[in-house]
Amino acid sequence: MTGTPILHADLDAFYASVEQRDDRSLAGLPVIVGKGVVLACSYEAKAMGVRTATGVRQALAICPEAKVVPPRMEAYSEASARVYEIFARFSPVVEGLSIDEAFLDVQGLEGISGDPVETAEGLRAAVRKEVGLSISAGLASTKFLAKIASAQAKPDGLLAIAPDSEREFLGPLPIEAVWGVGRVTSGKLRSIGITTVGELADSDPTVLARVTGRSAAERLVALANNCDPRPVRPRDPRKSFGAQSAFPAGSLEPDEIRATLASLVDRATGRLRGARKLTRTVTVGVRFADMSRATRSRSLETPTDRTDLVLEAARELLDSAAGSEMGDLTLLGVALGNLEADRAVQMELPLDREQNDSDPEAPGSLDRALDDLRGRYGTEAVTRASLVDKRGTGATPVLPE
Ligand SMILES: [Mg+2]
Repeated sequence: MTGTPILHADLDAFYASVEQRDDRSLAGLPVIVGKGVVLACSYEAKAMGVRTATGVRQALAICPEAKVVPPRMEAYSEASARVYEIFARFSPVVEGLSIDEAFLDVQGLEGISGDPVETAEGLRAAVRKEVGLSISAGLASTKFLAKIASAQAKPDGLLAIAPDSEREFLGPLPIEAVWGVGRVTSGKLRSIGITTVGELADSDPTVLARVTGRSAAERLVALANNCDPRPVRPRDPRKSFGAQSAFPAGSLEPDEIRATLASLVDRATGRLRGARKLTRTVTVGVRFADMSRATRSRSLETPTDRTDLVLEAARELLDSAAGSEMGDLTLLGVALGNLEADRAVQMELPLDREQNDSDPEAPGSLDRALDDLRGRYGTEAVTRASLVDKRGTGATPVLPE
């Protein structure tokens, strides 16, 4: 088959499948992963009407026989890493979308893993055999269509859309299948009689624009006609740089917790700069004395490796996650995700790195000076002023925060 160069691969009911894989007594049963809230559920639970992001109690009212298991994020990360290793074996261009989902460019691999259908089948078999999980795949000429195809192939299926049958395949699908058509847009489209992708494809953008606005109208009509020029771009969303610190409840004052946050951000951004990466998403996680957890994330306007910018976001996230319970914390963690290679972004910046380096006032130059000192004298050599005060180690060289 030619003309289907994009593969969308998506693990089936990922968290719940890992639980069923690791505990055979759960196989074939409705499984809910979550504590207060349903994070994920097995196909058996979905069939009974259980939905993610609802309360566990509510889900059990619908499906009383469901087995509820707490999430084991480490097991999921480990499974994801193994699946991503398999992705990398089957294509040199992998664009990770999440822990369990990626686009792969599978054109021109005839001599390596076969034509696109053979590649997809080989990948599915490898994930099944080596990781013990089922993964569904969609093959098409665009990302838009490949993602729809994998959703239609679930569970444990492969659907390849040949270029000459794209319109035929898309036409009868409900408009909600189109990326970006959520509840609001769907309501607007339905109010003017557009219910299928085919109707959307044939609609007049100027008429559509009256209900959705012009740019949305153009984008929707283009997608419905399978016009999606976005290529598969290498990206690994699993990778993040993090740092965390655990302490007994009540042992730190709120100020000391904020100082700990600064040191964690410092450590994480140092590792980020060391790897020549920039982050787009800052996450702060906390654990309370009763073992409950809270996590807050924020996307940054532009990707950065600067300690000050990340710390600014992290402080707000900590306040939002811990609120007035700051004294109750027993663990504080920072993770920097959604990484990009430093070079790609540098090209978009008006100043280049060398120019920055020679100007001590330039943003980021303090970070690099600190990294440099730590590189030469060890990580304890330099500490931000807010940390030194708390530890009372006045002998340490201090640089202003
Ligand atoms: Mg999935």
